[in-house]
Amino acid sequence: MLIPALIRNQLWRFRRFPPLAPMVRKLEYWGRTRFCPVCEKWFSHFNAYGVVPRPDACCPNCQSLERHRLIWLFLNRQTSLFTQGLVKPFLHVAPEPMISQKLRQQLKDNYLTADLFTTDVDVKMDIASIQYPDQSFGAIYCSHVLEYVPDHEKALGEFYRVLDPQGWAIIVEALVAQTTVEGPSIGAPGAVRKYGPDLAMFLENAGFSVQQIYANGFASQEEIALMGLRSFESFFFCRPQSPQRVN
Ligand SMILES: [Zn+2]
Repeated sequence: MLIPALIRNQLWRFRRFPPLAPMVRKLEYWGRTRFCPVCEKWFSHFNAYGVVPRPDACCPNCQSLERHRLIWLFLNRQTSLFTQGLVKPFLHVAPEPMISQKLRQQLKDNYLTADLFTTDVDVKMDIASIQYPDQSFGAIYCSHVLEYVPDHEKALGEFYRVLDPQGWAIIVEALVAQTTVEGPSIGAPGAVRKYGPDLAMFLENAGFSVQQIYANGFASQEEIALMGLRSFESFFFCRPQSPQRVN
């Protein structure tokens, strides 16, 4: 059932009364035209998000964005992570809270969060100099980090080194340039480069075989709309090429 727009648009007036706030919030998003695969809840719409606000972007419950829902759906549908688990730990670099909580629930002790700057992670880690032995991890997930790393080729080499030969890595970056460009004050605040589709080449040079994955590879057009995914958004699914490179 949808709440008519005329009524929905007036609900904000009641938010100022704390006892009513939870009910008002529920009514505001009441509907079944959007589904968040991360928190598994239904809504009438997602919230707008971004410097230039993107409509239908942010889940009002878990705050997942389009790319988080894309990755979560992929992990569920296209990997055996939640059915068979991993022999070695899952390394999550710069963990996004909404995905991190779910991964920890599912993987328990076989899950490690890492970041160079924030403290609410399991370990402090410079991904250009990872403090773990070769082949330590069964999977690596690194989203929107490499653009800030001065020596990203060293970091990708480190990912290759610490990944099990049977493991896989998911690398996510916004591909906003024709080809990758570097420089100060480029791209996002604090970033040292903007990536293009040739990020695939950097991954291959590090030793990975690479697949560029889009939502339509594992979701229907109806599901893409329902879950607020973006057809043009992609990520790289990487496996170590065999035989394992000798560093
Ligand atoms: Zn959600």
